[in-house]
Amino acid sequence: AKPSVRWRRVLLKVSGEALAGDRTQNIDPKITMSIAREVAAVTRLGIEVAIVVGGGNIFRGASWAGSSGLDRSSADYIGMLATVMNAIFLQATMESIGIPTRVQTAFRMSEVAEPYIRRRAVRHLEKGRVVIFAAGTGNPFFTTDTAAALRCAEINAEVVLKATNVDGVYDDDPRRNPNARLLDTLTYQEVTSKDLSVMDLTAITLCQENNIPVVVFNLSNPGNISKAIRGERVGTLIGS
Ligand code: UDP
Repeated sequence: AKPSVRWRRVLLKVSGEALAGDRTQNIDPKITMSIAREVAAVTRLGIEVAIVVGGGNIFRGASWAGSSGLDRSSADYIGMLATVMNAIFLQATMESIGIPTRVQTAFRMSEVAEPYIRRRAVRHLEKGRVVIFAAGTGNPFFTTDTAAALRCAEINAEVVLKATNVDGVYDDDPRRNPNARLLDTLTYQEVTSKDLSVMDLTAITLCQENNIPVVVFNLSNPGNISKAIRGERVGTLIGS
């Protein structure tokens, strides 16, 4: 068992799926508001928060590629654009409750958001602003989990906090096996060798190579985001 740690700078990954809530629309404003409130509470404690948003609630490149002659790269660019929509929605929600927030995109859309500039992102964080990284890595064939690992390493954040719709990582699929156990801790090795679908291999390998711990936790339990950000035990902790 790992002692609880208090992070100074965190990278919160919010998947598109998580933003969708009960799925009556692509984005559930109740979800974005609860994220904003919880992030607000921890930034008041002086913890610096950067966010990478996914886009799966709107468009997932891989599942569209091939249909109607759409090549994978084009499909992925549409997927990246979807993350920008989520980012702007989340930014607007955060600013509506007074959290200064900047969106930085991996490819230029200067009328809409700042371009990604590492040193500028770090400066925003130091000033207590939340930075939302959008458009993934800017490259097709990657995921926003990989973008989360990459940005985390670049800005020297201490941990990737992966907010999902499940309580953490199980030793088996809890929907099929009622005896599946929620795992407290896991090594990178176990994630890759047991093919536990936590993150894609590119993302988890990048975390492993840079010694970035990953916490997988449930976004829908109230208080979980702030617990995870404050370093309290929640979900599954992945490390070496
Ligand atoms: N995407 C991409 N490159 C990246 C990040 C994302 O091409 O660096 C595309 C890809 O098509 C992906 C979509 O954007 O399906 C949405 O991102 P993702 O599926 O990672 O979102 P999440 O699963 O977190 O909602």
